[in-house]
Amino acid sequence: MQKNPSSVNILGGGLAGSLMAVFMAQKGYQVQVYERRPDMRKNQLDGGRSINLALSVRGMYALEQTGMYDEIMELAIPMYGRMMHARDATLNFQSYSKDEKTCIYSVSRAELNMRLMSLSESLPGVTYHFEQKCEDVEFDTGKVWMRDLNSGEKYLAPADISMACDGAFSAVRYDMQKTPRFNFSQHYLEHGYKELTIPPGPDGSFQMEKNALHIWPRGSFMMIALPNLDGSFTCTLFFPYKGEYGFDNLDTEEKVMAFFQKEFPDAVPLIPDLLEDFFTNPTSSLVTIRCFPWVYEDKVALMGDASHAIVPFFGQGMNAAFEDCTVMSAFVDLCQPDFEEVFERYQVERKVNAEAIADMALENFIEMRDSVGNPEFLFRKEVEHRLERHFPDYVSRYELVSFSRIPYAEAYQRGLINQQILDELLEGIDSVEEVDMEKAGRLIEEKLSKFN
Ligand code: FAD
Repeated sequence: MQKNPSSVNILGGGLAGSLMAVFMAQKGYQVQVYERRPDMRKNQLDGGRSINLALSVRGMYALEQTGMYDEIMELAIPMYGRMMHARDATLNFQSYSKDEKTCIYSVSRAELNMRLMSLSESLPGVTYHFEQKCEDVEFDTGKVWMRDLNSGEKYLAPADISMACDGAFSAVRYDMQKTPRFNFSQHYLEHGYKELTIPPGPDGSFQMEKNALHIWPRGSFMMIALPNLDGSFTCTLFFPYKGEYGFDNLDTEEKVMAFFQKEFPDAVPLIPDLLEDFFTNPTSSLVTIRCFPWVYEDKVALMGDASHAIVPFFGQGMNAAFEDCTVMSAFVDLCQPDFEEVFERYQVERKVNAEAIADMALENFIEMRDSVGNPEFLFRKEVEHRLERHFPDYVSRYELVSFSRIPYAEAYQRGLINQQILDELLEGIDSVEEVDMEKAGRLIEEKLSKFN
């Protein structure tokens, strides 16, 4: 065991890295953050565009713990539910919760990252090093080799411990794969995604409902749009790479226009640069990465996407990464200076939950692109909201994941039980009023009360 670790390398100054830097600096550690990219606060973002992310309770709790909540929430737009866009442009709003004031928030990834950097850099003990790429880790000694991308020089980054927050394609994890008995898998979806922009209206107004996450569910594919503070929306088309309905087939302006006119007719007039966006913006892949162990003795720990990259359909990747930081911080408080114990308890607590949210995120793709537009699903949701209003022990899976900090693994388990209860109650009925509430009460007591 190292005697009294006092310095930390944070590898990757993205969302998890910048937040973890704050947690560690607040405990009195000297924190060096190494980030491969240039400082985004000084450099224009790619074409001024950036994706936005849904922030919910787990992420917000982490921000509260560091005292940065108010400053970050200035960047956030509440979204109270899903606004469904049918092919005939009919709109249908589904609130996320039985309590219609409960919401998730849209935040710009770049704005959030920049603010986290500035807040963490303002703390004593935190130093950012930009354009510094982590290249190798010697696990037996804990030595981390960096490369200065300006001078090309390779050097050692001295610190007692290292926290690898270097994202889904983590260099640290890549080196860990070469250590004995390291498990690793990556799985790509058949779908990729492309971003498009709905600009603000002429007077800076929002051209669609501001406080909703917009979805155009179309069965095997979908488009979503989240609001930005400047009145614009960032749309993301999730679409297969191949096939008649696939990115590879949408190869001419005529085909793209015909496709959008048919599938998203109400969105077309709102996206003036549709063709330019479509042909200029990259098509990006969607991957689930699972691995274990996440830590090496008391020297290195993987955090955020580096340990568990998930698909974005539950809006939880960043929230889970922030929750990693909350949990790591709590174990540092509890077990320091014994970082072997800190890291071990962190990975035991988080791995099972990372698996659960990875699975739920994959399942939610089907719900978002297909089920949300289907009358049977809408009926189930209506019944579910009725159960939630009557029985405090019945909480929907969406609510458990997005509006509580109950461990993801428990949310997954309770979601399966909810399904069984709904299946039993919905048999042979076709209106919400017909639900046998006495039976519902009995089933909920029998199957769900144990969780409280
Ligand atoms: P990142 O944010 O990727 O940060 C990693 C950092 O490490 C980067 O700054 C990178 O430059 C740096 N880096 C990489 N390699 C090196 C190296 N070798 N040396 C030094 N630095 C390095 N999550 C949500 O919670 N809600 C959402 O709505 C949501 N929507 C999403 C939509 C899409 C399309 C995608 C792709 C993801 C979405 N996510 C969402 C997931 C979320 O973006 C990630 O989970 C989150 O960014 C993870 O944070 P991180 O800090 O672990 O990784």
